[in-house]
Amino acid sequence: MKKKQSRAKSTPKYLLFSIIFLLVILGSLTLVLSNYRRTKIITSKSNLIVSQEVEDYLKESTVSPKLKGPQSLRVPMLLYHYVEYVKDKGDTIRQSLDIVPSLFDAQVTTLQAAGYTFITPSDLSQIMEGQMQVPTKPIMLTFDDGYRDFYTDVLPIIQKHNVRVVAYIVTGFLDKPNNLTRGQLREIAASGLVEIGAHTVDHSSLGILNLKRVEFEVLESKTELEKILGVPITAFAYPNGSFDVVSIQVVRDAGFKTAVTTVPGINVTQQNLYILPRLRAGGRTGQALLKYLEQNVFQAF
Ligand SMILES: [Zn+2]
Repeated sequence: MKKKQSRAKSTPKYLLFSIIFLLVILGSLTLVLSNYRRTKIITSKSNLIVSQEVEDYLKESTVSPKLKGPQSLRVPMLLYHYVEYVKDKGDTIRQSLDIVPSLFDAQVTTLQAAGYTFITPSDLSQIMEGQMQVPTKPIMLTFDDGYRDFYTDVLPIIQKHNVRVVAYIVTGFLDKPNNLTRGQLREIAASGLVEIGAHTVDHSSLGILNLKRVEFEVLESKTELEKILGVPITAFAYPNGSFDVVSIQVVRDAGFKTAVTTVPGINVTQQNLYILPRLRAGGRTGQALLKYLEQNVFQAF
């Protein structure tokens, strides 16, 4: 009897939960589909409305007479976020984006022993312009966002191995808890091992913003970093891997020479300098890491 009553009472609750659940699913689906559509704008030539734009963009970026470097070059660009011992075991997002410092150390050791040359985005653009010789087995280690552990954990390891990397900084995060301070950023840049790149002001997804906002995010982050460091900032990373033709053009017109995405791939071409692919090495080290870097990755552009 009691059971029946409670069931009767809770039916509307179940209904409400079901409706909320359905709405959440529908919302996520819409988001996924809209992102898919935006990605398609870049990758699909069958999209008649925008494909011309993309093709024009790609053509334009090939005819620059300055570019005398290789047409295509294999450069694994590894994507890192946190490198630390995550203290809050409940912080699952942070843990999923994290590798422990000893593992990062082992990865660098593996790559050095295998004869990889650690390059930065500036090196890459010089190589592609034909102003710098192609080094043996070029590789690029990229760090996104500008978390505090870059200073406490990553910097000591790259100094120990004397390897160069790039750190893409979100300027609006600077001096906030868990993020780099402006002083630490200056110290990192002064090490001579780290090229600093821009990663917008607010970590906004550029592919879904209007032109004015994209211009603000791109230009303001560049200007702010140049003010702090006193050097030209020419490397960019799209937050959340989100970009479209408009944001590519804004990034290029702002004076950046390269921009990285989260699209998987391993080849740099004269066409994709503003939509460079990256790879996630994850927990791989030793032979597993080397094999992973030697694979043929399907690449959309
Ligand atoms: Zn990011």
